[in-house]
Amino acid sequence: MINVLFAARPERWTTYEAPLHDAFRAAGLNVDLRTDFAPDSVDYIVYAPNGPLQNFTPYTRCKAVLGLWAGVEDVVTNPTLTQPLARMVDHGLTQGMREWVAGHVLRHHLGMDQHIHGQDGQWRSHIPPLAKNRPVTILGLGALGRACAETLASLGFPVTGWSRSAKDIPGITCLHGTDGLGSALSTAQILVLLLPNTPATENILNADTLADLPKGACIINPGRGPLIDDDALLAALDTGQVAHATLDVFRVEPLPPEHPYWAHPNVTVTPHIASETRPETASNVIAENIRRGEAGESFLHLVNRDAGY
Ligand code: NDP
Repeated sequence: MINVLFAARPERWTTYEAPLHDAFRAAGLNVDLRTDFAPDSVDYIVYAPNGPLQNFTPYTRCKAVLGLWAGVEDVVTNPTLTQPLARMVDHGLTQGMREWVAGHVLRHHLGMDQHIHGQDGQWRSHIPPLAKNRPVTILGLGALGRACAETLASLGFPVTGWSRSAKDIPGITCLHGTDGLGSALSTAQILVLLLPNTPATENILNADTLADLPKGACIINPGRGPLIDDDALLAALDTGQVAHATLDVFRVEPLPPEHPYWAHPNVTVTPHIASETRPETASNVIAENIRRGEAGESFLHLVNRDAGY
């Protein structure tokens, strides 16, 4: 019997219990899945950082902590965590992000707001350019950034992607490292942020890098709030250097009611809903990682603790 502790907020248990049982059964795993165990009897922890478990020290038998979230900034520096940490790469989450990013890119590309908000009897016949004339840049070419890059390229957008290490992705202009950032930004009529929150990415969009964008660029941030220097973005919105920002994530969530983003005419706030781990597909990823652990194989999606993602 493999003892698996589900350590997330109690309301998540109701959505995950059945899919996890189904996935363990399908993987041929004999699992006792519970929200409570004597810590020294736990073999694996299914984990969300906003749940009650913060001290991993008593989990002396635990072979791996299997995260339900793609972002790990709230657990990666936990000094009590000595076990391998895997993050979530889930087909359902990725598909949700493809759809959210494509929708918001198309909104700005097609100028949809003009017609949604402009029902005033004016016959505005401005024809948008084709996607091939609207360069898009994505910062981050990981599980989500790459999928979104490929989706946008399939719609005809010239897509540039930027990452830490060099990449070769058919149909995408791939740049990397500090030297590549200026070029990646310089063509970005629409900029999508899909970087993790790490010390190296904090405030990556600041007064200097915002000035590298073409005037009137749109920014879409489903990555993490600390990627953006908020004061610098507000200043760039006020000068028109940035035409619009669609922000899904913030330094403080929920975004406080008095935050200037709410009232700004050129900011769209969405409440961290770009995409979410989907229990049905994510449970298969958890089961596969437990199968691997039991077979002595390496875990999928291990976090690089030094890099912080
Ligand atoms: P990955 O870890 O797969 O990808 C991260 C990408 O960022 C990689 O391409 C990596 O480069 C790049 N990167 C990291 N650090 C740097 C750096 N210092 N300079 C340049 N590039 C860097 O993550 P995912 O794609 O799965 O997820 C990305 C983020 O999306 C998550 O961390 C999370 O914050 C956010 N997210 C938001 C959701 C929402 O609903 N709003 C939902 C899910 C995730 P390299 O490839 O070289 O390693």
